Amino acid sequence: MSRSTASPKGVLFIISGPSGTGKGTICKALLQKDPALRLSVSTTTRSPRNGEIEGDHYYFFNKKDFKKMIQKDHFLEWAEVYGNYYGTSRQSVLGMLDQGSDVILEIDIQGALQVKDKLPAAVLIFIAPPSMSELKSRLFSRGTDSLEEIQRRLSCMVDELKLAGRYDYIVINDNFEQALDKVRAVISAEKSRSRHFKSFLAQFAQY
Ligand code: ADP
Ligand code: 5GP
Repeated sequence: MSRSTASPKGVLFIISGPSGTGKGTICKALLQKDPALRLSVSTTTRSPRNGEIEGDHYYFFNKKDFKKMIQKDHFLEWAEVYGNYYGTSRQSVLGMLDQGSDVILEIDIQGALQVKDKLPAAVLIFIAPPSMSELKSRLFSRGTDSLEEIQRRLSCMVDELKLAGRYDYIVINDNFEQALDKVRAVISAEKSRSRHFKSFLAQFAQY
């Protein structure tokens, strides 16, 4: 069955969780397993990390230009996270959904809740770390952030976990392959909701 027959519009999946919990790694693996999934590239005022590419990982802007984009209503959602601004392009995401693509946003909790208010059909998936000590060790072993930045990110974890109950699904990323399978199972189940099959079922109405 073709994707367009089953679902004229794409499904929006939002993946959030504390820094270092494995969101980026999971998103990368999801795209490798299903190249039809689209990952929205956010805009940020954070400086690029080593190896990060403009337009691939993020669009990097200064705060002045980011604020201009807010005024022009460029963003579906935006938020200040760990001292920097991050935002999702409204036109890009709505365009991909209209074309029937399923889209993933890897964004923070404030942004996820803003999107859920505007687009209630969005599916919210929270990636939780197995423990605080494991989260710390992942942030250190990733080696991308200074000690000060890691401490800033860890200090937000408790507040972030308090809001996890507002998500549709929680996946604990302990064993990576198992966590990936669970996220893929959520995507598959959400894609099988009967509301995505209205046009498919309509073909049988003539008999
Ligand atoms: P986030 O995007 O949530 O900030 P990352 O995807 O960058 O986190 O992952 C942080 C670090 O943890 C990376 O070095 C990644 O390779 C590692 N990692 C991710 N998932 C696991 C896992 N299940 N077990 C061990 N290490 C993991
Ligand atoms: P990082 O600096 O590690 O790439 O991302 C820091 C945090 O910002 C993560 O929680 C990430 O999910 C979040 N983030 C990335 N892009 C966006 C976005 O467009 N909007 C919001 N609200 N958060 C984002």
